[in-house]
Amino acid sequence: LLEVRGVTKSFGGGRRRLTALDGVDLRLGRGETLGLVGESGCGKSTLARVLLGLERPDAGTVRYDGVDPFALRGKDLLNWRRRVQMVFQDPFASLNARMSAADLIGEPWRTHRDVVPDARARDRRIRELLSLVGLRDSDAHRYPNEFSGGQRQRIGIARALALDPDVIVCDEPVSALDLSVQAQVLNVLSELQSRLGVAYVFISHDLSVVRYISDRVTVMYLGKVVEHGETDDVFDRPQHPYTAALMSAAP
Ligand code: ATP
Ligand code: MG
Repeated sequence: LLEVRGVTKSFGGGRRRLTALDGVDLRLGRGETLGLVGESGCGKSTLARVLLGLERPDAGTVRYDGVDPFALRGKDLLNWRRRVQMVFQDPFASLNARMSAADLIGEPWRTHRDVVPDARARDRRIRELLSLVGLRDSDAHRYPNEFSGGQRQRIGIARALALDPDVIVCDEPVSALDLSVQAQVLNVLSELQSRLGVAYVFISHDLSVVRYISDRVTVMYLGKVVEHGETDDVFDRPQHPYTAALMSAAP
């Protein structure tokens, strides 16, 4: 589904030049969850922006089923954008406080008008999406400040699903939530995966969360991938000293 090879990205110039990504490789199959871990500043969010087509790499390639998103224009680009969605850490920051849950969830359809042909289809689809993330029909008319943090994140997830994507890039999706709410939101994400077959790139600094949700794990250090493998192998038998140190530092 997704193949990344040798992706490099630097910011700034001269002596202030900073290499955020340094030859990153990764692969993601359909319906799979790839966990992405590493300490603060190692380049996880930069990589997320590259995968979303928001940041063009200086070198290397990104291919979705063989297609380079950075080479697309116009209608092709619009169609590609549908397939790759995102969920961020703080849903409040990304949800317009003046829009109801229904409007927020349906926002992507403003640019992709063909997905829901009319108001009835739209209402039906919004109810479906609410129920998929464990919210009620009556929640459609409530506003972000009337929801709990976990509920807001569910709305963020419902919105990410509105265009029926192949991939959702989740950047610290549960880090702002209480532990018990984290578990609920993670359950929603894994249930959606088994029902819809969506794939996740799941970024988190919380190793127990990553272990719970990921099929495979990629470990980054200073912009480089230092380890990659099946989740249990990476956690139980880390090959790289950095991974071993990361694991032993975890609570
Ligand atoms: P965290 O776990 O704290 O979210 P991260 O792994 O997501 O960290 P990034 O946000 O990808 O890290 O940042 C990687 C490096 O690139 C950091 O040193 C950061 O300061 C730098 N960086 C990221 N975006 C930019 C930018 N737009 N301009 C300049 N430097 C940037
Ligand atoms: Mg980040």
